[in-house]
Amino acid sequence: MSESTVSNDKADTGFLGHPIGLRTLFLTEMWERMSYYGMRALLVLYMTGAITEFNPGLGWSQIEAQAIYGIYVGMVYFMVVPGGWLADNILGHQKAVLYGAMIIALGHFTLAIPIEQTFFLGLIFVVLGTGLLKGNISTIVGKLYKDDDKRRESGYTIFYMAINIGSTLGFLVCSYLGEKIGWHWGFGAAGIGMSFGVLQFIYSKKLLGSAGMNPNPMENHKRAKLALGAKISLGVMFVVIVSGLLGFYSIEPRVFAENFSYFLTIVAGVYFLYLFLFAGLNSIEKRNLILLALLFIGAAAFWSGFDQSASSLSIFARDYTDLSVSGYIIPVGWLQFANPIFVVIFAPIFAGIWTHLGRVNLNPALPIKFALGLALMAISFVVMLFAVELAMETAPVGMRWLILTYLLQTWGELTLSPIGLAAFSRYSPKRYIGQMFGLWFLASAIGGVLAGLLGGDALDAGLESISPVFNFMIKYYFAIALILILLSWFIKKPDNPKTEDEAISGQD
Ligand code: GLN
Repeated sequence: MSESTVSNDKADTGFLGHPIGLRTLFLTEMWERMSYYGMRALLVLYMTGAITEFNPGLGWSQIEAQAIYGIYVGMVYFMVVPGGWLADNILGHQKAVLYGAMIIALGHFTLAIPIEQTFFLGLIFVVLGTGLLKGNISTIVGKLYKDDDKRRESGYTIFYMAINIGSTLGFLVCSYLGEKIGWHWGFGAAGIGMSFGVLQFIYSKKLLGSAGMNPNPMENHKRAKLALGAKISLGVMFVVIVSGLLGFYSIEPRVFAENFSYFLTIVAGVYFLYLFLFAGLNSIEKRNLILLALLFIGAAAFWSGFDQSASSLSIFARDYTDLSVSGYIIPVGWLQFANPIFVVIFAPIFAGIWTHLGRVNLNPALPIKFALGLALMAISFVVMLFAVELAMETAPVGMRWLILTYLLQTWGELTLSPIGLAAFSRYSPKRYIGQMFGLWFLASAIGGVLAGLLGGDALDAGLESISPVFNFMIKYYFAIALILILLSWFIKKPDNPKTEDEAISGQD
């Protein structure tokens, strides 16, 4: 898909100095993330919640619930890949986003039905809808700008703000309603939030002009063939899902999650190799692809810690943390506010630091930034080791431990996530950009499944089992950070021609 289908030009500064269409995408993403994070914060709490009279949970074991959480997060991001393909080849990105948003809302409303039988159906809808929306909306952001428009990266930064304003809203509303009134009210609130996003998108999508309106140009008969393939795949998926829901086969969540993590890793590896060997890339594109593969590894490891905010860390908050503020017990999910609020505070500061370092020619290469992100993730879990030790002596512990952990993770996120998105937008081979975004989200998928698996291991035997798992993660994060630093030194050979050097130096 080409980046050059642009309706807006540099004269368009209708939204914070950016093309007015960014406002439409900003608000849609904000509502989608409100629903995603709001619901996600409830998920493990609901599944592992005791079967009490007030607000009964499902009473499932940690291992099982955390594995389901991991599969859910992994599936959400994995589905971005077929979602990108559908938009590129058949639907166009605008329609994909609209349909995705509607299916997500349907999913949350299904979860709002207060019976256990519709739980998985609701999750499946959210997974499928997010697959259509999440990657494609990020692609349209890029399409608002001409190739040489310098505003693109700050456009992504503004977009990242939408994500975090949305998640703050989600934690605020869904956690309060879900934990204090009833789980299904929280899920319903997520559905209402997403519905605002749908209406808003319908009314303001004309502001996007032609950006992401049409799929890739191709001959009609070829498109018809692809559409037929898509319909058959959807049909097969439908049969598999419905027969599973009707109980014709059953899945052992933990085993499924483990196999899913291998599957995702193999898919990503094969795809990178395919692009490298058979996609007809020139030497600069190949070099950039190696760089992006390195970033991919760093990102997958990073998300495996980050996504434990709604798994192991959420349970630590619920079971071992004192949540009272002036006598009021805050909802467990409110502690997760720390992340988006810190993002909004620190994102401009980090952007300023990178710009300043760029000016004095000291901007670190991308893998170094990613290594820093991983090191911060490792340190955040060192903080948790202290918290766990303290909790073993005198639980509950203060909230400051989790807040400090989230602060460090947020700093890590800011050295990795917005930069990774912009790097994939900038250094991907242009004709593969949609699929490359898919790959970027595959890193999140792997991270998500691992978060569920690690979270399950950590909580398997209450407090006792946490430290060994966190210790293991800390070692791995540091090791991968070190490998990234060493490899970045390798791919940045000093005798590179200037243009190539610029292409991989990470001057974002
Ligand atoms: N917080 C970001 C978002 O929600 C990134 C999440 C991810 O890629 N795992 O978009």
